[in-house]
Amino acid sequence: MEIIPNVHLIPKTVANPYLLIDPDGLTLIDAGLPGSHKKILRYMAGLGYAPKDLKRILITHSDFDHVGGLPALKHATGARVYASPVEAQAMAEGHASRPVKPRKLSRKLLFGLMTRVFKPARVRVDELLSDGQILPVLGGLRVIEPLGHTPGHISLFAPSLGILFCGDSIVSGEEGLRGSSGANNWDQAKSDESVRKQAALGARILCSGHGPVEMDAAGKFPQV
Ligand SMILES: [Zn+2]
Repeated sequence: MEIIPNVHLIPKTVANPYLLIDPDGLTLIDAGLPGSHKKILRYMAGLGYAPKDLKRILITHSDFDHVGGLPALKHATGARVYASPVEAQAMAEGHASRPVKPRKLSRKLLFGLMTRVFKPARVRVDELLSDGQILPVLGGLRVIEPLGHTPGHISLFAPSLGILFCGDSIVSGEEGLRGSSGANNWDQAKSDESVRKQAALGARILCSGHGPVEMDAAGKFPQV
């Protein structure tokens, strides 16, 4: 689904992967659940691109629903993988980047099961990202560290297009936008701070890791 020219959301994938098109090749933000590589490659083919046209895969954070498709995709395309040092280490070791703290027993059992079933596959990250770094994508894609959902979560902001890819730091739903919270949130105070930091960027379009794209985000950021 084209969001704006050269920016696509790959639909029907749990945890939204975004495909960005530049003259020197393609960049993907997040890789979805295990098995998502097939949908991603099919979507690329539909636009006339071969697997080798994918040059970069940027990972917002290492939760299984964002990196599940990564090993197969890296293998199929040879793309270089980018993430923050904390998330890169979690992926290298094949575990979550922070402990999950479910409050209820039922949730604890569910998370225990999920952790076992969806344990992130080990992936070697090629390039480490840091706050403020600018990548040669979409006319300059700035790395922002909205820590909170996980200890090494990053967002990506293209100022020239006013488009912000916020991973799970802000989630889009039927009731609008909300900041990361709950059992799988690493640090609530940092999450709230990261929502305020991102609201101040002046993004017009917000692309979250979950839920619909918000095409008119100004004034709709959560008040925290
Ligand atoms: Zn997620």
